[in-house]
Amino acid sequence: MTSVARRSGPARHAGAQASPGASPGTRPAAVPRPDPSRRPQPRTAPVRRGPGLARVSERGLLTVIIAGAIAVLGLWWHSTPGVHGLGGWLTGAGQVLGLFCGYGVVILVALMARLPPLERGLGTDRLARWHAMGGRYVVSLVVAHALLIVWGYAVTAHANVLSESATLLTQYPDVLMATVAGFLLLGIGIVSMRAARRRLRYETWYFLHFYTYLAIALAFSHQLADGAAFVTDLAARFWWSAMYLTVLVLVLWYRVAMPLRAFRRHRFEVLGVKEEAPGVISVYIGGRRLDELDAEPGQFFRWRFLTRSLWWSSHPFSLSAAPGADMMRITVKNLGDHSQALARLQPGTRIFAEGPYGALTAGDSDRGVVLLAGGVGITPLRAIFATLPGHVTLIYRASSERDIVFRDELDAIAAARGATVHYLVGSRAEIGGDPLSPRMLRSLVPGLDEQDAYVCGPPGMTSAAVAALRAAGVPRRRIHFESFEF
Ligand SMILES: Cc1cc2nc3c(=O)[nH]c(=O)nc-3n(C[C@H](O)[C@H](O)[C@H](O)COP(=O)(O)OP(=O)(O)OC[C@H]3O[C@@H](n4cnc5c(N)ncnc54)[C@H](O)[C@@H]3O)c2cc1C
Repeated sequence: MTSVARRSGPARHAGAQASPGASPGTRPAAVPRPDPSRRPQPRTAPVRRGPGLARVSERGLLTVIIAGAIAVLGLWWHSTPGVHGLGGWLTGAGQVLGLFCGYGVVILVALMARLPPLERGLGTDRLARWHAMGGRYVVSLVVAHALLIVWGYAVTAHANVLSESATLLTQYPDVLMATVAGFLLLGIGIVSMRAARRRLRYETWYFLHFYTYLAIALAFSHQLADGAAFVTDLAARFWWSAMYLTVLVLVLWYRVAMPLRAFRRHRFEVLGVKEEAPGVISVYIGGRRLDELDAEPGQFFRWRFLTRSLWWSSHPFSLSAAPGADMMRITVKNLGDHSQALARLQPGTRIFAEGPYGALTAGDSDRGVVLLAGGVGITPLRAIFATLPGHVTLIYRASSERDIVFRDELDAIAAARGATVHYLVGSRAEIGGDPLSPRMLRSLVPGLDEQDAYVCGPPGMTSAAVAALRAAGVPRRRIHFESFEF
């Protein structure tokens, strides 16, 4: 049964049935049609998590990071026979913080290396948040390390801080390069601060971020040449270098080699574009052996459309239907230059796609499930709605009737699988209260606190919905969410 709320509160839901065979509407005549029979149709067969796809949990990742940090502390302890006087304490503190900086940058890069077990286990948005938080710690550690080392050396040598800085820069191997690296990291930290980032185009911020790799390369040699833990300890030098080399190989493998291989193997291309609602289009993407990608409903790819104006940037868009063996679909809301340009894509345009990424995928639980979508956040949830096993309730928040995407498809899926859909459309006044309040959610979904919840939408809506679910009694571990912002 499909229950529909149109510009009214849940008290006035009208029941509606839709045909299971309802297919996407017509597309603009200007773009050549993809073969409609090949479009992804509403799928109602349950899909379970891909077997054998490794996933690292939050606890697992934290355990590894903390174990590594303890090993780093052990390395410092092992290389520090004793600490004497103020100069010794300051230098010792500077050394241990320096080791943590060297370890921290490796973790930061590993989090963004697109490692499949991390991407599937924690999700890209959570990894990006950890990376951002870790980045702030590492930049602070870099500054503290530099200040403590200069101060400690100055105290030990009975020199002033300025002349000791000059000595360090000119007479210690590779310290000058490391200083340049420190300033680079500081600059990247500053442009990543919320106030600065809001003023920058995403692409400017993104490309500036690549200087992190330069900074890491510049700082590496001074660690081995000057670090007390490494100067005389060959084994420590070996393991430290192996750690850096491993992460470098992982980055090259997962960020460069695998996408290049997928490009050659799967030959992604645009099949056609269809308008779904004002300012919202679907792009149908063809390719070979797409099932080998192991993409799951709810995941996303980073798409780089190889046209003259779009090839230089890749953007994340979720699969809006369960992927088939030779076709995938994404659905895009026009929010800026790039998303707007996608409406003009021509069939045959080649695509460089990286993925699949994201942890917003069907769990193994047989409990009931509630899906909460806000605006274009319906895209991954549309794919999940069709394929999750068990009883599902979809709550779709949209600001106006015109903004609802996939209405026919959603109703058809609901009818075919006996699921419930609530459309919460209009302003709060029209709906009769806060559509995402715990009270409203509980009234829409009986037994809500026993269910799993999936949330996707703009960042503000996502955090409000997660807070409301928590207040309605849904445990944190059963709330899965993805925000359309890194
Ligand atoms: C995991 C994920 C899945 C997404 N799925 C969908 C989807 O299915 N449908 C949909 O319409 N939108 C989706 N988005 C949002 C979409 O990626 C952005 O709206 C789009 O990239 C905006 O680019 P633009 O140049 O058109 O707009 P701009 O005005 O340049 O950017 C608008 C905002 O989008 C973000 N953004 C811009 N470029 C990028 C980029 N290259 N990578 C990451 N974020 C960027 C920035 O926060 C920026 O402030 C998703 C985002 C994420 C993070």
